Amino acid sequence: MTQTPELPGCGHDAPAIALAEALDRIRALLEPIDGQHRVALRSGLGEVLAQPIVAPAAVPAHDNAAMDGYAIRHSDADRDPLQVVGSAFAGHPYTDRTLAPGECVRIMTGGVVPDGADAVVMQERVHASGDTVEVRHWPEQGENIRLAGEDLAPGDTILAPGRRLNAADLGLIASVGQAEIWVKRPLRVAFFSTGDELRSLGQTLGPGELYDSNRYTLYGMLSRLGVSLLDLGVVPDDPAALQQALDQGAREADVILSSGGVSVGEADYMVDLLKAGGQAHLWRIAMKPGRPLTFGRYGSAWYFGLPGNPVSVMVTFTQVVVPALRYLVGEQHTPARRFSVRCQGPLRKRPGRQEFQRGRLMEQSDGTLRVESVGKQGSGILRSMSEANCFIVLPADSESVASGEWVVVEPFLAGGL
Ligand code: AMP
Ligand code: MG
Repeated sequence: MTQTPELPGCGHDAPAIALAEALDRIRALLEPIDGQHRVALRSGLGEVLAQPIVAPAAVPAHDNAAMDGYAIRHSDADRDPLQVVGSAFAGHPYTDRTLAPGECVRIMTGGVVPDGADAVVMQERVHASGDTVEVRHWPEQGENIRLAGEDLAPGDTILAPGRRLNAADLGLIASVGQAEIWVKRPLRVAFFSTGDELRSLGQTLGPGELYDSNRYTLYGMLSRLGVSLLDLGVVPDDPAALQQALDQGAREADVILSSGGVSVGEADYMVDLLKAGGQAHLWRIAMKPGRPLTFGRYGSAWYFGLPGNPVSVMVTFTQVVVPALRYLVGEQHTPARRFSVRCQGPLRKRPGRQEFQRGRLMEQSDGTLRVESVGKQGSGILRSMSEANCFIVLPADSESVASGEWVVVEPFLAGGL
């Protein structure tokens, strides 16, 4: 058992810490997982590369034409018109012999430049009749030739470990002839909702009860990250049941996420269980929504206790859990893309906490972007998340924003979260 260090910002009544500070603390405690496996290239889409991809040979392999035209000898300027002695099409090189003075070869884009040629003249710049061509604009030496190795030299590292592979990356790896790659094993994430008031879909609601929506938003956001999921259902606010969920999560997953039960009183169960099972930190983070966060370790799993409010869950997930999961799986750190736009309409804010308001980025008729609030910003109003396509990120010390002022936005990449 590890003692919870007495850090500022730890505990219910401690002063709040900045989000960036919480991220630093979490990062300092996490250790990336081990484990990689070899997969067919296509199965690597969306996975994290575990071994560098090195170009075994030059790409392109040969000097080739960048245009349709004629491969010529640059020193032949005074021998124009030239004799066409053959052709070099993509996949069908001209291999008869080295070009002699006064000779040229018909060549198409991608065709290998024949021995002896050192420029390609575009077909629009010649006058062809029979087997001779007259060059109207003599090219520069090397003109319209793509050099061997121009794209990649042998031994070049083309992708480094930690890269999350996209479509272009698959093509790039294919271009060097590699059919299989090493990727990190998927992170296993267990998640559950806590609360005596929660019912699962299909059940009937009694007085004061509501449907559990957090497991659905978490399922959606986790699925996009390519982790393997273990849904542990709804767990009542009862220490024995919570312990059972944690035990199963720790046996079967690398990370355990729960939502709800981090407010004063309820959180104590969880903090006690974590202290007994590993390590516990309870932080008040100066962010809105999503102030309380429990972080720790239970057995061999990392634990994140998210707030219960549906919007708070999504905000803390994107801002705290996503960077942590990426770090754990060994992915290179790429901060979320943020930029400034003008705000359409005023925003209410009090200084003190960094806010993640829900906004809609809209394209104006002049092509510029503006953002407007989606309206009610309560942390229980999930509809605001569904309507939003970005967060409006307001710094802790900022006050209300007047219409037309510049604000920072963080767009949701797939249009929504
Ligand atoms: P808690 O953090 O447990 O005090 O929950 C804060 C608020 O979020 C309460 O109104 C809960 O009913 C609500 N809540 C907690 N968990 C969920 C959930 N899984 N789905 C929907 N609402 C929830
Ligand atoms: Mg609760």
